[in-house]
Amino acid sequence: MECLVVGNGIAGCVLTHQLRKRNKNVHMIAKAAPKSSQYAAGILNPTVLKRYTAVWKAHEFHAAAIPFYDNLEKTLAVPMWHALPIHRIFSTAAEQNAWMVAAGQKVLQNFLVPQLGTTSPSTALHAPFGYGLVQQVGRLEVPSLVAATKAALGQNYTNANFDYAQVQWVGDKPHYKGITYDYIFFCEGYNAHHNPFFDLSALIGNKGEMLRIKSHHLPEDAIWKGPLFICPLGAQKFWIGASFDPKNKEASPSEEGKSWLLRQLAKMTSAPFEILSHNSGIRPTTKDRRPLLGKHTTLKRLHLLNGLGTRGVLMAPLLSEWLCDAIFKNSPLPSEVDWQRFAHLDSN
Ligand SMILES: Cc1cc2nc3c(=O)[nH]c(=O)nc-3n(C[C@H](O)[C@H](O)[C@H](O)COP(=O)(O)OP(=O)(O)OC[C@H]3O[C@@H](n4cnc5c(N)ncnc54)[C@H](O)[C@@H]3O)c2cc1C
Repeated sequence: MECLVVGNGIAGCVLTHQLRKRNKNVHMIAKAAPKSSQYAAGILNPTVLKRYTAVWKAHEFHAAAIPFYDNLEKTLAVPMWHALPIHRIFSTAAEQNAWMVAAGQKVLQNFLVPQLGTTSPSTALHAPFGYGLVQQVGRLEVPSLVAATKAALGQNYTNANFDYAQVQWVGDKPHYKGITYDYIFFCEGYNAHHNPFFDLSALIGNKGEMLRIKSHHLPEDAIWKGPLFICPLGAQKFWIGASFDPKNKEASPSEEGKSWLLRQLAKMTSAPFEILSHNSGIRPTTKDRRPLLGKHTTLKRLHLLNGLGTRGVLMAPLLSEWLCDAIFKNSPLPSEVDWQRFAHLDSN
C-alpha cells in the first residue's frame, strides 16, 4: 500500500512511523525546514503549569507518547527521548499553596509531586519561593526525529514543495508525479492554509519566538519553568522560550520578541550567557484548541493530521494511531478531533 505524507514536522514524522509499523510503503515530500517543529523545545508535558491543570485527555496522550518514542529510539537506533523533570518556580507563597492543592487531584497526581523543592540546586536561578516538581515528563529531540525519519525513508523522501495542482486521479486514488497513492496525508502545520483541498479556517496559528543560548552556569539536569522555559539541550546549550502571539503571522523573529524573551529570562537568572540563535515559528493552533484529523468529505483518500497546537510532542503518537485505526480498522475517530466538525467550511 502506497502512502504519501506531506510535511516532515512532528506530525508527519510520527505518522510516518505509525504507517511503517503497519507495513505501509511511505513516501514523504517536505520543504527543507519543518517550521513550527524546527523551533520547538520538544517538551512533553501533560500539565498546564500556568494554571495547574491537566491538558485534555492528559493520561491517554501521555500513556501513548513515551512508549512510542522509546520504541522508535530502539527501532531506529537513534537517541531522541530524554526523561527530565520540570521544576516549576513559584513567584509567591500563594502559588505554593495552589500547587499542593493541585497535586492532590486525581488527574494530576501522577505528574505533580506534592512536596515542594525549597532550595534552588543552582545559585544561578532565582527561586526564593522554591519550586514544584513535575515528573514523568521530558524532552524529545525533534531535530533527531526529523533527521532519523528522513534517513529511514531513504529514496522515498523528497525535499520539495508539494504542488497541489499536480494531483491527478486514477479512479478514486490520487496520482502525484508518477505514483498512484492509496492515501495522501497532509501534515503541513500552519502552512495548510495553502492546501486547496481543505479549507482550514479553523486553523488560527500562534507565533512563538525562542532563543538558543550557551551558559556555563545553568543546571542541565532539569527543565526550569518560570515566566519562560529554560530547557537544557546538552553541551551547556539551552532552549529559552517562548512567546505566544495569536495575531502576528509574520514568520520571521522580531527585535521586540527578542527583548521580551531577554526581559523574562532576566527574571529567572542573572547568569552570564551567549545568544546562539533567535527564531520563531507559527504553532498550528485551532479555534477550539483541538486537533484536526480525518478524511476529506468527498475525496476519501485525502487525510489530515494537523492542529497539534502547543503540544505536538505529547499528542502526535496517539493522534496518528487514531487516524491509522480509523482508516485501516474502521474505528471511529473521536468526534472532538475529527476535522469534519468544521466541514461546513470545506470548499469541495
Ligand atoms: C517556539 C515554539 C516552541 C514550541 N515548543 C513546543 C514544545 O516544547 N513541545 C511541544 O509539544 N510543542 C511545542 N511547540 C509546538 C509544536 O512546534 C507543534 O505542535 C508541532 O511542531 C506541529 O507540528 P506539525 O508537524 O503539525 O507542523 P510543522 O512543524 O509546522 O510542520 C509542517 C511541515 O509541513 C511542511 N509543509 C507545509 N506545506 C508544505 C508543502 N506544500 N509542501 C511540502 N511541505 C510542506 C513544512 O515544511 C513542515 O515540514 C512549539 C512551537 C513553537 C513555535
